[in-house]
Amino acid sequence: MRGKLVVGNWKMNGGLRQNDALLGDLRAGWKVTVGRSLAVCVPFPYLWQAQAALSGSGIAWGAQDLSERPSGAHTGDVSASMVAEFGCAYAIVGHSERRAQHGESDAVVARKAAAALAAGLQPIVCVGETLAERDAGQTEAVVLRQFDAVVAQLGDKLAQAVVAYEPVWAIGTGRNATPDQAQAVHGLLRRRLREVSAVMAGVPLLYGGSVKASNARALFACPDVDGGLVGGASLDAAEFLAIASA
Ligand code: PEP
Repeated sequence: MRGKLVVGNWKMNGGLRQNDALLGDLRAGWKVTVGRSLAVCVPFPYLWQAQAALSGSGIAWGAQDLSERPSGAHTGDVSASMVAEFGCAYAIVGHSERRAQHGESDAVVARKAAAALAAGLQPIVCVGETLAERDAGQTEAVVLRQFDAVVAQLGDKLAQAVVAYEPVWAIGTGRNATPDQAQAVHGLLRRRLREVSAVMAGVPLLYGGSVKASNARALFACPDVDGGLVGGASLDAAEFLAIASA
């Protein structure tokens, strides 16, 4: 049976003191349970702090991005092996904010996913359509185009990835996809995974976009939704833990 996974994406938020409080509250409030996993993806400078605060807690941590390249003259970039040195389990790749604000193409995102796997990290590959694309009836085509680029790059290694469906219009807007809308795309992705290989059917599929304690239970009850990628609500320990318990 596929387990449930909830991952927090802090985005560019935090500070040493407030992180200490948040990580401490998560550690104190999280009850390790078989079939349920919790993780936080923090800004690069705080990876050491997440490692120090969460080691042995049963809560995993990770990065929000990484370079597709292993090393060299790439000022400002951070490699997958650097991220892995801080005990990270995960690295988000292809978040819509990276695609939109940094011009990351499907091919770049796919290479980042491969770099994460090569360093022993589980990539959380984000896919999702804009509102204009949804309104134009292009949701399936856009999501499959983004997803297939990763399939083509990773091949069998895709089995070790996590995929997050994050409709761009739902991210940070307070307007989540309905459970029916989420399930429709998750079902599509699950069918595509099965077409690639039977073993891929177990790849966790997370939903992201304005997940809150009040809507998490209905979203996570969808048959092909294995948990959530949570932005804003992951900055509040009580809210985030309530989502994880849903
Ligand atoms: C995200 O940043 O991946 C996200 C889903 O944000 P929010 O939960 O704030 O919509």
